[in-house]
Amino acid sequence: MLDDYKETQPVVYQILKNSVIKNKNSHAYLFETNGYSKQMDLALAFAKYLLCPFHHSNIDDAKDCSICNRIQDGNFTELKIIEPDGLWIKKEQLSELQKEFSTKSIESNQKVYIINHAEKLNDSSANSILKFLEEPEENIVAILLTDNSYQLLDTIVSRCQVVSFRKDKKIECINNESKTLFLIANQLVDQEDQLYDFINDEKKKEKIDQIIQFIVSLEKYGKETLLFSKKLWFDVVKEKEEYFSAFRIMQLFYQDVLNVLYDRNIEIMEDYQQEILSVLSKNDIITITSKLKILMEEQEKIKYNVNSNLLMDKLIIRMSEVSK
Ligand SMILES: [Zn+2]
Repeated sequence: MLDDYKETQPVVYQILKNSVIKNKNSHAYLFETNGYSKQMDLALAFAKYLLCPFHHSNIDDAKDCSICNRIQDGNFTELKIIEPDGLWIKKEQLSELQKEFSTKSIESNQKVYIINHAEKLNDSSANSILKFLEEPEENIVAILLTDNSYQLLDTIVSRCQVVSFRKDKKIECINNESKTLFLIANQLVDQEDQLYDFINDEKKKEKIDQIIQFIVSLEKYGKETLLFSKKLWFDVVKEKEEYFSAFRIMQLFYQDVLNVLYDRNIEIMEDYQQEILSVLSKNDIITITSKLKILMEEQEKIKYNVNSNLLMDKLIIRMSEVSK
């Protein structure tokens, strides 16, 4: 229930609760989840708050509420949740939603749909959702969830009320010297004990250095990086799991480049300011956004056991082709 997030997500909690109490619902919310792990639970809690006429916000009140319970179990006709079907959210999924939602509400005077991983909208499904958002119906509320709002069309973002989640805080930083390492670890591992192992493993820091060095070379030499990528890369990253993390680290780096371009603070890569500056001069917002998209697409392929040589060659080629 919504009150569960009073402590962990105080700002989000206030925004959402007020919008219902003051009867000022937006037609569309964009939840920037920022890696917060209970993103879907929170979205569901908000959906219950919107849909159940009793507006229960804590579990004690809602325990015996059949509406809240059915929403939780996914048995409520006025709530629809859309997840990516394979790599993308498909246009057909949205057409189906629009068809279902065009009928009169039976169970509530509101209807809510949640799109999880909204960054997986492809061109045609993004356009179809855009049309839906452009002509909002009085009683329909959209909740889009994404970890990467920069991957969404600006026209979608501008039609939503953006609600930004606070990152999960696993443990406080131990000392300032390792802040970057700590923040990276926080993004990569799930459990607290793994976090300590990560921070205390000296090899991790070395590997991160090398991954950042790889980006700097790639930015400097472009496709020529193919000639020496083996040395830069294959000695550092071996396991599938490591590839996944390495791609994530590259994304975090480029996200901070983007932060600087937007005049925001560096969030994670403070130890690599020099490197960020060197990359900055060769890019603008559009190229960085494209590069982030490429990194995400190529990262997806790791799941499907692609040959790592080919994967890296493809990455180098695609990244080099993006230029200012
Ligand atoms: Zn209820």
